[in-house]
Amino acid sequence: MQAPIINRPLTLPHLIIITVAIGLLWPMAGKAGSNRPATLVVPETVAVGAPFLVELSSSGKLEAVEIEWSERVITPSITPAAQTYTALAMLGTGMNAEPGVRSIRVRARVDGRNRTYQKFIELLPKEFPREALSVAPGMNKPPKEIHGRIKRELAAMRGALRTELPQRWWKIPFHRPVEGIMLSRFGLRRTFNNETKRRHTGLDFRAPEGTPIEAIAAGKVVLVGKYYLPGNTVVIDHGNGVVSMAMHMSRVMVKEGEWVERGQAYGHSGATGRVTGAHLHLSVSVQGVTVDPEPLFDLDSLTGAAAALQSK
Ligand SMILES: [Zn+2]
Repeated sequence: MQAPIINRPLTLPHLIIITVAIGLLWPMAGKAGSNRPATLVVPETVAVGAPFLVELSSSGKLEAVEIEWSERVITPSITPAAQTYTALAMLGTGMNAEPGVRSIRVRARVDGRNRTYQKFIELLPKEFPREALSVAPGMNKPPKEIHGRIKRELAAMRGALRTELPQRWWKIPFHRPVEGIMLSRFGLRRTFNNETKRRHTGLDFRAPEGTPIEAIAAGKVVLVGKYYLPGNTVVIDHGNGVVSMAMHMSRVMVKEGEWVERGQAYGHSGATGRVTGAHLHLSVSVQGVTVDPEPLFDLDSLTGAAAALQSK
């Protein structure tokens, strides 16, 4: 018996469909030839202020990876494994970012060939509730002679948040710094003493005075300060653009330049600086942008390549 032969000519719509399909399957540009292209995993949507993960993986040798996001170029470290090479990056948007569709481009050298990948991420709006707080008058409206000091301290903290160890020392989920529940969330629109309006740039944990604060990931202590508004502060660089900052500490147990392991206690919680009581304030900066730390502690709420990374 003769096998049925499908013998219909390819019409223009067919060709368009096939061309589009090839376009979807094949990464943009690059020199064709390698049959081991890389796979880029990004979340489809991300909430304003949230951190997210991006992963490029390939069975071919990944030699260099650059990610273009939000007018920055990020160079994640590449992890070789028996079968697969991966480059994992943590990215984020600020709490004031405009919702909308953003492009993410990745340039990589795979098996000696340059390739470019592009995807789109929809930034979703997020509601940030209000919160009214009462603090000491000198913390609400610092006296004039303190203004210069506050400016210098802010500049030192901003500088510390821009440091970047070239290797990734963090893994997901991050280690919770204290056991206490989360109190004030990231991004809240705060009013101090019914007067001063400030956004909450971190996440507060319940932590009675003297509670040990543990490193959310391994890293290098890049700043230790006794500051007016943040109180005793420690900044740790976890590599590849992820930096954490603890404030209001009663005791600091590390020095600048020291290395801490994931889970290592580096100080105690307290009530130094502008506070209503003892707690831990944790800020996390990703590629120079302050993001919501909360998703970092829970694999399910961290968007992006998280599912694929549980074993890494
Ligand atoms: Zn706080």
